[in-house]
Amino acid sequence: MFTIPKGTKDMLPEEAFKWHYVENTARSVASLFGFKEIRTPVFEHTELFLRGVGETTDIVTKEMYTFEDKGGRSVTLKPEGTAGVARAYVGSVQGSGILPYKMYYLTPVFRYERPQAGRLREHHQFGVELYGAASAMADVEVISLAKRFFDTLGLEKLTLNINSIGCPKCRKVYNEALKQYLFEHLKDMCPTCNSRFEKNPLRILDCKEEKCKAVTAEAPVVLDYLCDECKEHFEKLKRGLDEVGIKYVVNPKIVRGLDYYTKTVFEFVSDAIGAQGTVCGGGRYDSLVEEVGGKPTPAVGFGMGLERLLIVLESENLLDKAPAETVEYYIGSMGETEAEYALKLAASLRAKGRSVETDLLGRSVKAQMKYADKIGAKYVVIIGDEEIKTNTLKVKDMTTGEQQSVSADKL
Ligand code: ATP
Ligand code: MG
Repeated sequence: MFTIPKGTKDMLPEEAFKWHYVENTARSVASLFGFKEIRTPVFEHTELFLRGVGETTDIVTKEMYTFEDKGGRSVTLKPEGTAGVARAYVGSVQGSGILPYKMYYLTPVFRYERPQAGRLREHHQFGVELYGAASAMADVEVISLAKRFFDTLGLEKLTLNINSIGCPKCRKVYNEALKQYLFEHLKDMCPTCNSRFEKNPLRILDCKEEKCKAVTAEAPVVLDYLCDECKEHFEKLKRGLDEVGIKYVVNPKIVRGLDYYTKTVFEFVSDAIGAQGTVCGGGRYDSLVEEVGGKPTPAVGFGMGLERLLIVLESENLLDKAPAETVEYYIGSMGETEAEYALKLAASLRAKGRSVETDLLGRSVKAQMKYADKIGAKYVVIIGDEEIKTNTLKVKDMTTGEQQSVSADKL
């Protein structure tokens, strides 16, 4: 017996309809906004993530699946979706003259983490990337896309938290003020935060440990340190969200886990699923494209965890709306000759685009009826002598239990 690797999950056929529902909704909402799909490899050169995610992040320091391939190259399974997209953009798209350039992805993501509810070693993300627009209106567009997606799924109880972490210029001033404040409290904070103090003090605000939260509750607030340009950008973002009627909470503790963010950061959070409540995180990363070797290109986007989203949808009974993927006709049969007739009938129905199953096990009619019920067939037809002779079929509607006689070629 082999067991599944820790922190991974199979998507079983019984659950496929939920994933298709969420993915199809993602695709159709993305296209409402003019975003097109991009698929990048599951693995990339490790260096890309060191550059594009940041050497001080949790992802790079602790969570990457990195290995050497047979050619001696260091490669890494993608721990997020953005870096690969930025690499593809720089390599193949930049210079095409299309700006803004809008992409979305649906991808598996790999992170070596301690598995728990809503935290896996392989999870899946829906993400969008909008390149080439520096204006806060682009941030509003990306947030609106996420909101439209949630609305389409009927998910209302998510809180949108927004913040600005400024640009390298004003963040430098803020980092100093923050460090000055935190210095006296280092002994009251967790070892991780102590190690973040020099390299990435901003991330301390994001720590989930109670004792660290108690310290940061009184810390200086980044919004008070924004330069004029960043302040104006944040004001414009809020006005834009007001304009399109999207409610938000300004939360100065939102900093996001990746190094490349500038200005806007945001999260959609659910309080229905406990600790792992952040379903979607995103923001602006104006220096990323340049960081991975491209021309300076402003960028904004988000990444959304689909397993967490499904947990929330399940907990709010919102998956009832997902179309069931069941077969339309079950054509059963009473004997061998009848089974051959059923096979032919199935072939002609499938040629018309109808989904059909027939008996492949030579079972009794009772057992076939039980099977048809189990697979959720909409209509059941049993082929006997009479049916073959008259070419007339009794079609049973499994929802109402009603039966109708129909000529075989009218089916
Ligand atoms: P967290 O603070 O929960 O670790 P994060 O900041 O690492 O989240 P992002 O890198 O922003 O998360 O990823 C975007 C989204 O992907 C998250 O909001 C979450 O919904 C989902 N996600 C991240 N890590 C995991 C994981 N290990 N398992 C399942 N979903 C995840
Ligand atoms: Mg994380």
